[in-house]
Amino acid sequence: MLDELIELTIIDGQDKRSFKVKAYQKARNALEDFPRDFTKLSEKELIEISGVGKSTANQILEFKLTGTTKKLDELREKYPHEYVMLTRISGLGPKTVNLLNTELNISNIDQLLDAIENQKVRTLPRLGIKAETKMLQTLEKLRLNKAEKMFPIADAFQIAESLVQDWERITSISNISYCGDLRRMKEQVGEIKIVIETSDIDTTKSNIGDHPELNFDSENGNQITFLSIKKIPVIVEFYPVGQYHFGTFFHTGSDLHIKKIKERTKDLGFNFKRSGLQEKNKTLEFNSEKEIYKKIGLQYVEPEMREAQGEVDLSLEGQLPDVVSINDIKGDLHYHTDRSGDGRSSLNEMAAAAESKGYEYIAFTDHGEDLKINGSTREQMLEHKDNINNLQVQYPNMKLLFGCELNIDANGNLDYDKDFREIFDYTVASVHSHFDLSQEEQTMRIVKAVSDPTVNSIGHLTGRYIGKRPGIDLNIEILLEALLKFDKALEINGSLQRLDASSEIAKQAMSKGVKLVINTDSHHVSDLQRMEFGVSTAKRGWVNKELVINTWPYQKFITWLNNK
Ligand SMILES: [Zn+2]
Ligand SMILES: [Zn+2]
Repeated sequence: MLDELIELTIIDGQDKRSFKVKAYQKARNALEDFPRDFTKLSEKELIEISGVGKSTANQILEFKLTGTTKKLDELREKYPHEYVMLTRISGLGPKTVNLLNTELNISNIDQLLDAIENQKVRTLPRLGIKAETKMLQTLEKLRLNKAEKMFPIADAFQIAESLVQDWERITSISNISYCGDLRRMKEQVGEIKIVIETSDIDTTKSNIGDHPELNFDSENGNQITFLSIKKIPVIVEFYPVGQYHFGTFFHTGSDLHIKKIKERTKDLGFNFKRSGLQEKNKTLEFNSEKEIYKKIGLQYVEPEMREAQGEVDLSLEGQLPDVVSINDIKGDLHYHTDRSGDGRSSLNEMAAAAESKGYEYIAFTDHGEDLKINGSTREQMLEHKDNINNLQVQYPNMKLLFGCELNIDANGNLDYDKDFREIFDYTVASVHSHFDLSQEEQTMRIVKAVSDPTVNSIGHLTGRYIGKRPGIDLNIEILLEALLKFDKALEINGSLQRLDASSEIAKQAMSKGVKLVINTDSHHVSDLQRMEFGVSTAKRGWVNKELVINTWPYQKFITWLNNK
């Protein structure tokens, strides 16, 4: 709720550095660090948390009571979700969108596309033909110009997770899960599908009916459709006990995967229906999706792989690849601490959180000096190294590596100098600016970083933000060859905004034998859960665990690292 308030307040003409925005940000950070459930606190207790002011405390209490606040409602009314989406597009921002709105009455992406087509945007001050072309290219790259509306996975996940959490508490619901595009981890999601197990559909229907984030749209048999306040359709379908797992299987899709399975069940003499699988007119009951696949003689297919890309035939032959799973992960090699300007947890907090995940090794990779606000000087890095060494004593079962996230500049150069960079145990090099260079320049600068002996891996390869900023233009073929030649690892970044390298690129990398590393790029202890999203992206790319360096036991990993 505070995140939304911050975003809307900025759109409402407040500067990012204004007092109001800063106050909300301070409160959000303080509450994120608060060790207990802050929603149970009174006004007085809230204000006692350093960073939370009186007016913010009141907004939190109002939100807890009513599911919204007057201020939030006012801003939501003034700036509907479509308008907010416009401001999030790279190269637009609140000021430009405001201009487009007052001059051309544009308040959503379709209207913007119309105006570009009719050459109206170029007539505005500060914009011109160049800006117009650029906007169109960005919209195309972000796939926002398609008739079929898609939503970034990060937005869809947030809604789905909060609905599942809220509805889990309803007593007539015995099982609930989100399915569809989201469970298959597609980067852009058409709608949210939720499957509910219940033996009392009528009670459940009325219980989920009034949710502050949803508006009722339509009802059809055992299915209800809502529109979320972010305009993402939410489709809920009810299944009785015994058919729930068939329901999650059916609604996870993809349509093509289900079609192939359906053909197979027909060949075997089953009757495949939306409500369940029938054998001799009797609907079968399953205790898991695994049982469904087993019943029809197939190896279990991970949800992320159900895209009809050959997985059904392979599962029939028992030849599915041994894809990486969350239990294989032995370390996380991209952590920021409050040593970085944008990190919000301390060294100790990050180490403790990693230990609770059972990791054997982690790397602290705070930003190097090139990132002006977020980076660290040499002196700061040396002090950091000592702090990490001192902390190691407290973690006899987990190796703490002193690392760095190096910034790849426009020419492929890196922070500090080569001698200094050699003090790091582990490095990840990544792109943080100059997103507009040509494909040749982009490929060249990353290949140069790959060839540097002090670089161990490449982070968030394309720099994209899904639905907001297209990735840089790269020749993937050349890049993968370089990674292979210099034996460097390609990161799959688990942040839902990034998922970078994408599952498609990961699949190409795999087929060439390029090593991969799945990281969270955590800036706060709460980011550690991103490992699941990274692993899911890897599964979508059919990534074999053998090639993922952070599934290796420490000895194997460190031997590889030190052989450079
Ligand atoms: Zn980065
Ligand atoms: Zn990072």
